[in-house]
Amino acid sequence: MSHSCTHAIVHCMDFRLNPSIQDFLETHDLVNTTDIIGVAGAVKDINDTEQGFVETQIDLSVKLHAITTLMLMNHTDCGAYGGSDKFETKEEEKEFHIGELRKAQAKLKAKYPNLEIVIMLGDTINNEQTNIVVVE
Ligand SMILES: [Zn+2]
Repeated sequence: MSHSCTHAIVHCMDFRLNPSIQDFLETHDLVNTTDIIGVAGAVKDINDTEQGFVETQIDLSVKLHAITTLMLMNHTDCGAYGGSDKFETKEEEKEFHIGELRKAQAKLKAKYPNLEIVIMLGDTINNEQTNIVVVE
């Protein structure tokens, strides 16, 4: 039996993100072609560990489903990083998360040079709304 899909997304398990992620996948026609990897802190585990749980999930997505694009998404007010209170300003918080995303992107790009790796930041406004922006 063989089955494949084109994309995988790594995002935080935070329930507040669900409606916006669903909207994003629907808008980009990705609902039926995306592996979902939801874990607290999203890329935090990639950056904090040599070969952690999240990276193992990505390895399996590449190996089993032959994905060509990986989407990495962090979000503001992420509890795994200490929430928004840890930062002086919203801009500082966003820059921090973009830094985290770029670090994970570089690590995975070295491992999978042919994989397109998109980084995305979700600005969590409230329980129902997170504004997702594709950074690069
Ligand atoms: Zn989070």
